[in-house]
Amino acid sequence: MAADEAFCYDGLLHHKAFFVIFDLHSHSTASDGVLSPAMLVERARTQGVGVLALTDHDELRGQAEAAAAASAAGLRYVTGVEVSVTWGGHTVHIVGLHVDPQEPTLLAGLAANRAGRAERARRMAAELARLGIEGALEGAYARAVNPDLIGRTHFARFLVEEGHVKDVKTVFQKYLVKGRPGYVPHEWASLSAAIGWIRAAGGQAVLAHPGRYPFGREKMHLLVQEFRDLGGVAIEVVTGSHSEDQVPQYAALAQEYGLYASVGSDFHAPGEGGRELGRLRPLPEGCRPLWQTW
Ligand code: AMP
Ligand code: MN
Ligand code: MN
Ligand code: MN
Repeated sequence: MAADEAFCYDGLLHHKAFFVIFDLHSHSTASDGVLSPAMLVERARTQGVGVLALTDHDELRGQAEAAAAASAAGLRYVTGVEVSVTWGGHTVHIVGLHVDPQEPTLLAGLAANRAGRAERARRMAAELARLGIEGALEGAYARAVNPDLIGRTHFARFLVEEGHVKDVKTVFQKYLVKGRPGYVPHEWASLSAAIGWIRAAGGQAVLAHPGRYPFGREKMHLLVQEFRDLGGVAIEVVTGSHSEDQVPQYAALAQEYGLYASVGSDFHAPGEGGRELGRLRPLPEGCRPLWQTW
């Protein structure tokens, strides 16, 4: 076997032809993605994904469609969700995998998290209007297939498509993150509630894209410690949000805390600047992939 056709993964030597691509973090029109769950699955298939989870923000309504499409396309499907949490004064995301999408505790918790979005959207539009940007509320809702999940990405797409800003990434930097004029603070679920709901639904809690949080070393360790003590099981090590340098850094953090490692693109939309479905490097050696527990 030629060296470039083989690589080491979960301790075993794999040949590229037999390698399964896991993508355990993605979005559809049920939250702030632009593809329907069925279209997302189709795109995942063409990108060579073998095991997929759709993990919409605070929402499970895309799960049945995604699971059915995956079954028809011959992909293994894992139910998923991405729960918005407020921890340490910042927003943190917790992915829940293998959750029961009918479980009442989880459904009620997610509904409570969604409930604050409409008022937050009104306030965001008011902030943008003060900056001279009119029509943001209508513009954002026009782009939200699921109005219950109105979010910052829908505002960002409105601002780009109306020619106010050149791309989604720049909208966030200029308007929609903490410290910028269109940002509206919001209180999401607590870390303990989010992990509790995921566990109640029989799922596994995964700390999403840790490299994105503006925490120093000490606070990051505090978060990971608390996450694990509450029953969290894995950290996203390979994600569209991590640079090449961050991958080994979070692999080491997972190992230090005895946590499993997860992998996901966090795909939202073709050509929007985020990571493509399935475009993920293998986990670094020494990581324990979460799917070893499945
Ligand atoms: P929300 O749940 O409404 O606060 O929106 C959060 C979503 O906004 C994330 O899931 C991303 O899709 C998007 N987002 C957050 N920060 C950025 C950023 N800096 N660049 C691009 N998208 C971002
Ligand atoms: Mn998103
Ligand atoms: Mn996220
Ligand atoms: Mn996400």
